[in-house]
Amino acid sequence: MTIQDRAASASAHDTVQGLGITNMLTFDIEEWFHANFEGVNLEPVSGRSSNFRAHMDTLLRICSETDCKATFFVLGCIGENYPDVVKAIAREGHDVASHGYGHQLAYKQTFEEFRDDVKKSVDILENLTGTKVLGYRAPSWSIVESNLHYLEALEGLGMKYDASIFPVKTFLYGIPTAPTKIHKPRVGGRELGLYEVPMSVMKLAGKNMGYSGGFYFRFFPKFLIKNAIRSANRSGNSSIVYLHPREIDADEQKLSLPFKENFIHYYNVRGTEAKLEDILRSFRFTSITEHLKQHYGLKV
Ligand SMILES: [Zn+2]
Repeated sequence: MTIQDRAASASAHDTVQGLGITNMLTFDIEEWFHANFEGVNLEPVSGRSSNFRAHMDTLLRICSETDCKATFFVLGCIGENYPDVVKAIAREGHDVASHGYGHQLAYKQTFEEFRDDVKKSVDILENLTGTKVLGYRAPSWSIVESNLHYLEALEGLGMKYDASIFPVKTFLYGIPTAPTKIHKPRVGGRELGLYEVPMSVMKLAGKNMGYSGGFYFRFFPKFLIKNAIRSANRSGNSSIVYLHPREIDADEQKLSLPFKENFIHYYNVRGTEAKLEDILRSFRFTSITEHLKQHYGLKV
C-alpha cells in the first residue's frame, strides 16, 4: 500500500466513523491447542504442528494494509518458541502485552502463582522486544469476582492496564455486573493505579452480550457487528475486537471437543479473515496503549 493509499484509507475511516473515537484491536497470541474448558479433555485430533507462523503473517499484513495498530497479548511460551514473531510484532509498532506464560486459568492459581506466571511471561517478552510490557489479558477471561484482587499483582508489576474482564455471564467466564467502560478498578476500597479495559458488550433482551470478539465475532453477521460499533461510537464509546490466530484458518488442526464446545471454538472460522478486514477498513482502530494515550491521558 502506498503512502497515498494509506492517507485515503485513514480519511475513509474518518468519514465512516466521523467522531474521532478510536476502537481497539486486540489479538490473543497462542497456539491452536491452547484452550480451557471445564471438565473437557482437550485431546488434539492429531499432532502438534501448526500454521501459527502463517497466521501471524496474515494478521500483521492485515494490520499494515488497513493502517491499524493493535495490542497482541502474547503467551510467554510463544515468546520462547517463536522469538522472531514477537520481535516482528514489536518492530511493526504494535503493543506486545502479556497473556500469561502457558494459558493457565488465573482463578485456578494462587495469588503468588498468578503473579509468578505473569512475571515469567513479562520477562520473556521484555527481553525479546526491549520494551516494557504495559498490559495483560487473562486466558479465557479468568479474572472473575472471586479473584478480582489479582489485579493488584499486575499493578505491582508496573502494568498500566488490564483487559481480562468480560461483563457477561457465560458458562465459562464473566462478571455480568462489572462496569462496561474503561475505569480504574477498586480493590479493598482502594483505587488501583491501572486501567481496566473491559470487553465490549451490547444489550440484548436486557442482558449484556459480547459482539466483537472470538465466538461472538464469528457468530454474528457483519452488519450487526458494524451497527453495534457505530452505535457505541455515536454515543461516545469505543469497541474492542479480539481474535486468536487459529480463528482465521479453517484448515488449522483442531481439538476433539464435545458439540457445544466445538461450536463455540470453531463456528464460522472460514469467514473471519474477510470480516475482520472489512470492519477494520470501516472504523478507526488502534492499540489499547494508543487508545489510553489519546482518550485517557496515559503517559508512558
Ligand atoms: Zn487465550
